Amino acid sequence: MRSGFLPLAMVALLLSIPVALHAKLAPAPLTGWEYRWGDSPLDAQGQPVWLNDTSDQWQPIDFPSNPAERNGQQHVWFRTFLPEGEWRDPVLYITSIDLIGQLYLNDELIYQYGEFDENGEGDFAGWPWHMVELPEGYAGQQLSVRVFSYYTDIGLWGEVHLTDRMGVLKQVIKDSAKDLTVSAFSLLLAMLAAIFALIGPDRRGFGAVALFASSSGLMLLAETPARQLLVEAALGWDILRAASYYMLPVAMGLLLSAWLDGAPRRWVSWLWKLHLAYLAGAIGLVFTDVISLSLTFPVFDLLLAITLPSMLVLALMRFQRLGIEQRLLVISFTLFAPLLFADMLVAHGFIAWRAIPLSYGSLGFTLAIAAVSLWHYRRTQQQLALANQTLEDKVALRTAELDHLVHKFEGLSLQDSLTGLSNRRHLDSLLEHEVQRAERQGTQLAVLMLDLDYFKRINDIFGHAAGDAVLVDIAEFLKSSFRTIDAVCRLGGEEFVVLLPGCSTSDASERVRMLMAALHEKHFHFEGKALGRITLSCGIAVYPDHARTADQLMQNADAALYQAKRAGRDRFVIWSG
Ligand code: GH3
Ligand code: MG
Ligand code: MG
Repeated sequence: MRSGFLPLAMVALLLSIPVALHAKLAPAPLTGWEYRWGDSPLDAQGQPVWLNDTSDQWQPIDFPSNPAERNGQQHVWFRTFLPEGEWRDPVLYITSIDLIGQLYLNDELIYQYGEFDENGEGDFAGWPWHMVELPEGYAGQQLSVRVFSYYTDIGLWGEVHLTDRMGVLKQVIKDSAKDLTVSAFSLLLAMLAAIFALIGPDRRGFGAVALFASSSGLMLLAETPARQLLVEAALGWDILRAASYYMLPVAMGLLLSAWLDGAPRRWVSWLWKLHLAYLAGAIGLVFTDVISLSLTFPVFDLLLAITLPSMLVLALMRFQRLGIEQRLLVISFTLFAPLLFADMLVAHGFIAWRAIPLSYGSLGFTLAIAAVSLWHYRRTQQQLALANQTLEDKVALRTAELDHLVHKFEGLSLQDSLTGLSNRRHLDSLLEHEVQRAERQGTQLAVLMLDLDYFKRINDIFGHAAGDAVLVDIAEFLKSSFRTIDAVCRLGGEEFVVLLPGCSTSDASERVRMLMAALHEKHFHFEGKALGRITLSCGIAVYPDHARTADQLMQNADAALYQAKRAGRDRFVIWSG
């Protein structure tokens, strides 16, 4: 692409100087054509006899193409007289020839396209435009055109006019500049889409965009008039043109099927696969010389005439259900498809020859799909980002919940599950903490060790559940009997420890005495049954009077409790060494 652009731009620049200076003279279309079916016999010198044919076999025709009643004929002759003109450098311009031809000015062969064998037949050689140099004194002379074609069309095609060499080149450059720009743009888009297709996420969609953009870009390049100025290989260009043209419905089908779903998607998939098979088959047969490239065009066009409207209908069938992006895609397809169709109709002469702005159509379509795909891509990215954010939020929420649970479990692990009092573990740290504080503040700390008397009996007589209920009641009773700064703990079984910060031995004794008195008044019940009274025994040890460490305090309080039990229970004993 790039290598072709630079020389072309230079040629355009150089040509623009004389072209700008050159007096404008409108091209003159040739008129007064006559035709005669068949091929001319040759005279003794090998000259075609029909060059000087005065028979009445010649019929008038508006344009030297596809005369009536062909009936399978592959040869035809056309003739007319060249008009006068003020051309500085006169040439005959022909858009295209179906398929090969010879041009005579009076008796002289002035131009030949393609190779004629002894039967006057030859192979398709591509569809380039032709610029036929005219010798001096051409005006008023007879121009005869001998044509051979096994193609659906026979004769000249497009425009046939007398003009100036500069005029032709100027027109070619003008027409090509536009096509080449669009082609370059399409190929650039194709490259971008291919990069997107490689990095994902919408690989299929971008892959189809890349395929469509590259096909239409190559097609425009291969059919631009300037192609002959770049590389002179008409057949090669036309093979490229055919391949990229045949690829278009494959890419369109891929695109649509990437956006559709359900049955329409399956049908569209079938259609593009059919086209892909045609592309592979046709180009394969052309390369193996089984068929002529020219003949693959009408079959393809026939196929496209069926598949293109089908794709359109399938896409439109789902229109109501499509999202806005898909609708935009279908709309741009609806605008592009008729252009392709019109181009086809012109190519086959169903409508009069005219230039169809196929390049702009394909550019518009490529731009639309590229825009829609990018938009779609951006939305997908946004949704992905949103999903990420939601995920992060959820993770944060879960982490918070987990933290909460951990705290709860930590709390639970310091709590006795039956009574809700602090358990042994908590007691250990509480006691350590309170001893340190008492030491630091120079205050006292009383430790009470309590044990219910004959508790085993409660279990034995009323059952374990009743025992549990009593433990819960006792816990509640203990809690309400002390200050909030006091720590009431369940050591295990029916044993409790109470820490009384700032309490002296006498304070503690007084408290325990009051506690016992209150307990004497308390009645215990379980499921409506009276359980009788419950007493407890208590050992007291005080910091710093009886011990200075947590362990020692516990041991001394326990020893005092033992003494209380031994002394008959329902009493307290202050540790005395
Ligand atoms: P003492 O006056 O000598 O303390 O007699 P006691 O029966 O209270 O003491 P002992 O150590 O012989 O028995 C304690 C009983 O406490 C044994 C057990 O059945 C009961 N016990 C310990 N933990 C629990 C508990 O969580 N629930 C119930 N229901 N009973 C318990
Ligand atoms: Mg007991
Ligand atoms: Mg006990």
